[in-house]
Amino acid sequence: MIERFALEDRHVAQRERVREFCERAVEPVVDAHETSGEFPEELVRRLGDEAFIGVPYPTDVGGAGQDFRSFAITVEELARSWKLLAGAVNIACGLVGYPLSEFGDDRQREEWLANVCTGEWIPAFALTEPGSGSDAGSLETTARREGDEWVIDGHKWWTTHGAIADLLLIVARTDPDESGHAGISLIGVPNPHERDGIEVIRDIPCMEGDVAIESELRFDGLRVPAANLVGEEGRGFRYIMEGLDIGRLGTAAQGVGIAEGAFAASREFAGEREQFGQPIAEFQGVGFSLADMASRTEAARLLTLSAADQRDRGERITQAAAMAKTFATDAAMEIATDAVQVHGARGYSTDYPVERYMREAKGTQIYDGTNEINRLVIANRMYE
Ligand SMILES: Cc1cc2nc3c(=O)[nH]c(=O)nc-3n(C[C@H](O)[C@H](O)[C@H](O)COP(=O)(O)OP(=O)(O)OC[C@H]3O[C@@H](n4cnc5c(N)ncnc54)[C@H](O)[C@@H]3O)c2cc1C
Repeated sequence: MIERFALEDRHVAQRERVREFCERAVEPVVDAHETSGEFPEELVRRLGDEAFIGVPYPTDVGGAGQDFRSFAITVEELARSWKLLAGAVNIACGLVGYPLSEFGDDRQREEWLANVCTGEWIPAFALTEPGSGSDAGSLETTARREGDEWVIDGHKWWTTHGAIADLLLIVARTDPDESGHAGISLIGVPNPHERDGIEVIRDIPCMEGDVAIESELRFDGLRVPAANLVGEEGRGFRYIMEGLDIGRLGTAAQGVGIAEGAFAASREFAGEREQFGQPIAEFQGVGFSLADMASRTEAARLLTLSAADQRDRGERITQAAAMAKTFATDAAMEIATDAVQVHGARGYSTDYPVERYMREAKGTQIYDGTNEINRLVIANRMYE
């Protein structure tokens, strides 16, 4: 239940700051990158200069010293212009940044996390494997201790930005006698592509197009110092579940941004496009579609900011983040699909942004736990 919910002036200012940046630096270049398939590496690193990556973390680790409402607002505004950038922030701040911030040692916080927050390092989070998706506890990647090193063997895929990552956070089983959620640890690998024992098998061709980097990686005797273990050995599953709370909050915000972008484009288009002698927005059928888009976008935003607000009050948001993620990304998919319909044939072309929103929305229903898995998370907490 939403008990209390408030935004302050600084949240409004953050939204304006990110929006201004997107209009100036992002929107003019999106189409060129989408067409050429060139990953916008410089722009991703620039998000660090703008302090948009480590929004909720303290300034001494490169963060912006703000809170999770500001994080959600930042991700939403980026996704409204280009989901790829919002996703990059979400991985850096949530899936990678959160475990480093909460469980990392001084070096991992002051060096690794700081490099991630400032955009110096593009990080990647390697959990999913060909045989282990929703059932993450069935992963087969192993890390064994040899002297003062970890030796990592395994096969990961759908590691976003894996092929270009400056830091890989690998989820591996460190205790071969354990199974399921036990005996799993997190190991950080800085500069992975300068090491032996790692192969980029391919970048997986996907709905987001060539501009997205979704890597398939193989580790064959990849060696890193023992000190690269994040937190305690064997507690990695707990760490990633806590990181996923933040990841899901950020993915909810991506859904809100995509929904807002699709709605805004449709509102503008329907006000200008004339058929049968009048703007199509004046046909009740189109007006109702716009009304539903606006209402669902606002509901998704409220649910997302409410979850962020709970986190800012120090509460665990496992259920709230799962609710926001599921609702907002389902809403984004529906709204983006309706937006293509409102645009008619133009919506089906790459001349208009709505076809991109539709492709982007589909991914948000799948990553950070599919929406089926998130519904399980919500249901399982109902009787606690
Ligand atoms: C764009 C994109 C980026 C990604 N980035 C990363 C990344 O950076 N790092 C990373 O580690 N992974 C990443 N992933 C992988 C993602 O986390 C997994 O795809 C996701 O967890 C689902 O796993 P799967 O694809 O193997 O599907 P499966 O687990 O095989 O599921 C297939 C279908 O079965 C359903 N299903 C499975 N179990 C249940 C159940 N118990 N109840 C009901 N339904 C169920 C699922 O919901 C789904 O619809 C990314 C994926 C995408 C699409």
